[in-house]
Amino acid sequence: MVGQTLPLLDRADLVVCGGGTAGAFCALAAAEAGADVLLVEQFGSLGGSATNALVLPIMHNHMEENPQCSYLAKKLLDRLKKEGGCSRDGLNFDPLLLAFILEEMCLSAGVRILYHTFLADAVCKDGLLQSAVVANKAGLSRIEGKLFADCTGDGDLSVFAGAAFQKGNPETGKNQPVSLRYLVGGVDKEVFGNFILEESKRTGKTADGGYWDGNIYAAVTNKEDQVFFDLFDKAIRAGDLTEDDRIYWQLFPVAGREDTLAFNNPEFFEDCDGTDPYQLSRIQCKGKQAILRQMRFYRRYFKGFEKAYLSSVAPMVGVRESRNIQTRYLLTAKDLLEKRKFADGVCQSNYPVDIHGRALCFDLKTIAPPKDGKNWYEIPYRSLVVKGIDNLLVAGRCLGAEFLVQSSLRVQHTCRATGEAAGIAAALCLQQKILPGELDGKEVRARMEALGAHFS
Ligand SMILES: Cc1cc2nc3c(=O)[nH]c(=O)nc-3n(C[C@H](O)[C@H](O)[C@H](O)COP(=O)(O)OP(=O)(O)OC[C@H]3O[C@@H](n4cnc5c(N)ncnc54)[C@H](O)[C@@H]3O)c2cc1C
Repeated sequence: MVGQTLPLLDRADLVVCGGGTAGAFCALAAAEAGADVLLVEQFGSLGGSATNALVLPIMHNHMEENPQCSYLAKKLLDRLKKEGGCSRDGLNFDPLLLAFILEEMCLSAGVRILYHTFLADAVCKDGLLQSAVVANKAGLSRIEGKLFADCTGDGDLSVFAGAAFQKGNPETGKNQPVSLRYLVGGVDKEVFGNFILEESKRTGKTADGGYWDGNIYAAVTNKEDQVFFDLFDKAIRAGDLTEDDRIYWQLFPVAGREDTLAFNNPEFFEDCDGTDPYQLSRIQCKGKQAILRQMRFYRRYFKGFEKAYLSSVAPMVGVRESRNIQTRYLLTAKDLLEKRKFADGVCQSNYPVDIHGRALCFDLKTIAPPKDGKNWYEIPYRSLVVKGIDNLLVAGRCLGAEFLVQSSLRVQHTCRATGEAAGIAAALCLQQKILPGELDGKEVRARMEALGAHFS
């Protein structure tokens, strides 16, 4: 294997690959528990999709009181609130501040962060991952670890190490659509908010959220009952928008930024394989063209956008789903639909199945209420333990789950909890000198609860 002969760049007890939501939480939890942690990230900031793909807000987990199965989520919320980067309900946040605070929390917990470093391969021997092969300004090299955590979102480290995986809708092979998100500054939200309400009154169509208490929300999919459906129609007929522009169009406020809106579009149903560099490149190019077109449309058709400007375009394509790694327990669609609980459950959620795109949709009308009356499912610790690679954990949207259940667990509160669980598990394994497969997941949940994670 070529990787074996590469120079050694660094070594750590726990090497976390990917500094997104799951990776930052994993590194933080392990470091706070006393582990020596190196966090490897391709970009120059933490937060991944939440910050570099501009994905906000955090979705509510659809359980009573929105319990957070993460003690770190509470700490983070306090810090964000102090900096004015978070809404009162804790769901909306300023992506730049989130990245700053995650970095500050990691550094003060003693995490060593290695930015601008791309994971390119892995060296394995006898079912153990020995080194992560990385590329950066120093060239190609190796990083050794006792334990590793794959928090790359796409399961890169696990796949390089030889783990099995699933990818895409099992019926069509297609991945969920991807998006290139952007922020627009200089919006007069009061004027625009009132415009939404006026249009809703004039057309008799739903504002789907609309404008309230300085808050704003709007959505146009291809549904005719939405407030802007006719306006989009007019713009499409005039050649100012394309039909694709309204398949998925959605905007949110950004906490702490009075004049800014975050757009959850353009969304693409082709070129949506987040592991194909050519497709990712095409989305960056097609996405920017669509964003320019949409900006021209806002200025011409909306009130409140007269002084609007593009304030940021995501450097990272928003990938909803790519690979899911084969773990000791693969969470199934049946588990989600039956709201199954596990003795080693490290995260609870009742977030719905959320598969974008008409052709991809499943018929879920027949879901029965859970037999135990508890309206949530759980993710077991074993879904974080990579099958066949004994010192490797996986967390975040690429953990061991089938396509349908991934569409629910991909949201940020779940990525936080599973990242934290992986970090705590790694620290426990290091202390007990055992491998992740030998650790009882009940211990992980108990530790999380003792630290303040809330389970219903
Ligand atoms: C368009 C879109 C809209 C969404 N809307 C919402 C929403 O409204 N609310 C919500 O809660 N969730 C939403 N989600 C889901 C959620 O944001 C993501 O699933 C979640 O943030 C993923 O977290 P993660 O830690 O698993 O991966 P990521 O946050 O993507 O982190 C992966 C990290 O690994 C790094 N990385 C990857 N590969 C390598 C490599 N080879 N070498 C080095 N570094 C690497 C990346 O740079 C990144 O920092 C949305 C997702 C998308 C794409």
